[in-house]
Amino acid sequence: VHERQVALVTGGNRGIGFELVKQLAFEGFKVVLASRDQEKGNRAVKKLKELDLDVLFVMMDINDQESIKHAALNINDRFGKLDVLINNAGVYLDENKELLNMDPAILENSMATNFFGAYYVIRSFIPLMEKQNYGRIINVSSEYGEMGEMSYQGKGAYKLSKLALNGLTQLIAADLNGDIKINAVDPGWVSTDMGGPSAPRTSEQAAESIIWLTDIGPNGPNGRFFRYGRQIEW
Ligand code: NDP
Repeated sequence: VHERQVALVTGGNRGIGFELVKQLAFEGFKVVLASRDQEKGNRAVKKLKELDLDVLFVMMDINDQESIKHAALNINDRFGKLDVLINNAGVYLDENKELLNMDPAILENSMATNFFGAYYVIRSFIPLMEKQNYGRIINVSSEYGEMGEMSYQGKGAYKLSKLALNGLTQLIAADLNGDIKINAVDPGWVSTDMGGPSAPRTSEQAAESIIWLTDIGPNGPNGRFFRYGRQIEW
């Protein structure tokens, strides 16, 4: 009998995160739905339990290092390990304004969640992966995270935060010993509160194009960027 794999999804209470939790649970993972809000988190877990899915709630505000450490202790106490971490929680605070012409608080807050949030979550949870020399980290990025000459997408705080997240993915990949793999993925334009109602992709499709990265073998990709299952350039 295989030991159940434990997966953690940040911002799991709605949008793409909620769908990631659902699909991972359907695949047989024990899934920790992390949310910064107890009520929203519990409500989301309740919906999934009604589908007979094995999901539990942990409170985690990724803007708060203490909250992250507390969640890591909690998961260590319960499971003693973590197999899969999906950094999904994110904010889109600017209307694509120029960096020099925006309220700097928007930039600080965007970086605090989309970059530093992921950074501190990774720092706190890698030790739970190292214990078993196994782990898969997936950073939910964006086409705004592309810097190449073909990319004309965005110019503001959100873009910078996703560029930084992509950079973090590459640098941490180089530091890890290969038993833990970290990759970034662009889910496309998705119909959620963030993406708005005109977005062509559903959360279901977005989650499908993300969770295959939990299932890569020992020779699977590390420090790469994907969209719709295919590697793309940074
Ligand atoms: P939503 O706005 O629908 O959901 C965002 C989630 O992140 C919510 O659960 C929210 O919690 C959570 N969150 C925000 N800040 C924090 C925080 N400080 N601590 C904990 N949780 C937090 O967004 P999507 O589902 O659309 O986006 C998910 C990810 O996908 C994001 O990283 C986004 O950048 C990325 N993405 C989305 C695209 C799209 O078109 N939708 C396109 C490309 C990338 P709460 O409910 O409490 O606010």
